[in-house]
Parts: sequence; structure tokens; C-alpha cells
Amino acid sequence: MTTQKPTGIPPETDWSTAPGLLDGAKELILTPEHCNLAYWLRGVAQGTLAGRVDTGHSAQAATPEHMREPGPLRDALIHELGLRSVSEERATRILGHYVTNAPNIPQMEFFATQLVDETRHAMVFRRHLVELGIPEKELLTYVADLADDYRKRVLDPLEEFALPIVSDPEDFIGAVAIFTIVVEGVLAPAAELSERKWDLLDPAAGEIAHGAAIDEIRHLTVGSTIIREALIENPGYRPRLDRILEQGRQLWNEVPDKEIVMPREHLFQEGMRAHTDLLKEYEVWPGRLLLDSLPDERYAMAEQWTDEMADVRMAYMGLGTPQPER
Ligand code: FE
Ligand code: FE
Repeated sequence: MTTQKPTGIPPETDWSTAPGLLDGAKELILTPEHCNLAYWLRGVAQGTLAGRVDTGHSAQAATPEHMREPGPLRDALIHELGLRSVSEERATRILGHYVTNAPNIPQMEFFATQLVDETRHAMVFRRHLVELGIPEKELLTYVADLADDYRKRVLDPLEEFALPIVSDPEDFIGAVAIFTIVVEGVLAPAAELSERKWDLLDPAAGEIAHGAAIDEIRHLTVGSTIIREALIENPGYRPRLDRILEQGRQLWNEVPDKEIVMPREHLFQEGMRAHTDLLKEYEVWPGRLLLDSLPDERYAMAEQWTDEMADVRMAYMGLGTPQPER
């Protein structure tokens, strides 16, 4: 656990000292009491976001001209950010229930900040599309069209599963488990991969992804603490939680997430070939050059990161091994 400075920007929200998403999510312990509104205003609004309010990236991290030229690389990023912005918008709307149903002030404050975080992610992902040359006045219809299939076949089923639980004031822990374990726990490693893929090719997109990753560490760790403490207080909730997680796992097996994501991974593959000079020494993970990596291999690595992260976090929450029947 990292020690916190009593004043100033906490290291985990400081742009230059924040850990990577995978390490941070595995190693940091944060609580809703600690991550209250004042923490967020200081650490995020005045820390992570300093100089990055409008676009999610600094003025120095520009979008290179090659990202505005039509072609597979630009198409890959547009597809990725378009779909992610729609997911973040959906997350924001759902998080309204968490603010309403939070059982105490620290959790209410925390979820109010998470709601703003997700609203902001949707905004900066969308705005980067304008930086890539999508005309601003067409942006919303453009994104809606782009994400139509994803919305109907992935987001709608997820929401249909989540909504009865997250809107039930009697099942707040179930709601937190859905966000922390079923949704963000599964999607976070894909965000990590995104940061690593775009870092050099589009420094603006790299910064946008880095900022979202800093937020994600907080969402994952605070959510986990809430679940851990709820289970210590009420071990009898465990069977209900196991059922929710099992249903969540089943749902991810059914939705065509991979089918929708892989075409853009192939576009990326084709597009990065034009930038061998820029990428020639860049490793996507230790020992593997991005240029040598393959679409399926990157997808599989994100899945492996998901499992590794889940193992650590589930153990922290007390969900590591099934509890014996009582
Ligand atoms: Fe987000
Ligand atoms: Fe999040």
C-alpha cells in the first residue's frame, strides 16, 4: 500500500507518479472514506486533470497528422473511441442509481465522483474523434451509427442484466459487484492495452487513455473495498453474490464482444505497418515488440491480464475460493 501525503496531490492521481492500471489495481488499497469529494477535487480535478480539462490530454500531446489521414489506423481508433464513448455514456446513466442508493455519505460522495469520471471519459473519447477530423456537428449521429451494433448486442444485454439489481436499494452490494467485478473488472485490461497501443502512434490518444486508467484504478480499488467490507459484515450475502457473478460470467460468454472488437484490431495491425520507424523499438509488453504482435495475441493478452487482475482482487474481497456450505 502506498503512503498518502496528507496534503497535495496523492501519488496515485498524480499524472507522473500514478502506477499503471494493472499494477495499481492489484497493489493499491483505497477506501470510499479516503476517496471522498475533497480527495477527488484535489487529486483529480486539480491533479490528474491539470491542463487536461477540455480534451483529456495536454497541449503538448498533439494528434499527429498521420492520424487524420483516412486509412486503417484512423479507422481503428475511431471505432475504438466511438464504442468506448457510448459505453461510458451508458455507465454514467446507470451510475445515477448508485448515487441514489448509496447507504452512507462516503459512498454517495465516491459514486458522485465516479459518475463525473465516466461522464468525462465519454466526453474526451468523443472529442478526440473531432481531433481526428470527424465534423463536430455530425459527431453524435456519427457515433450513434458506429456503435449501433455494439449497443444492441453488447450494451443492451448487459444493461438488461444489471438494471434490476443496480436499481434495487436493498441490493447495493450486488450493484457494486456488477460495476466493479462484472463490468470494469472485465474491461479494464482492454483499456490498458489501448494505452500501450496508441502511446506513440497518437500521443493525444495515449494521454486520454492514461488519464482514464488513473481513474479506473480508483474505481476498481474502492469498489473492491466496499464489497470486502460488506462481506465481512454480512457473510450470509455470499451465495447471492456468487449467483450475480456467475450470471455475469455467463453473459460475457454470450455477448459477441470479441466479434465486434477483432475487426478493429486487424485494422490496427494493417495501419501500424506504415509506422515501422516510429515503432521499431516499442514493446507492447516486456519482451514483445508491438510491431511483431498479432491481433489475436493482443486480445488473448488482455484476457490474461483480466484473469490475473481478477485473481488478486477477488482474493482481497474474500471471494478467492468458494466458501464451504454452512
Ligand atoms: Fe470509464
Ligand atoms: Fe470506471
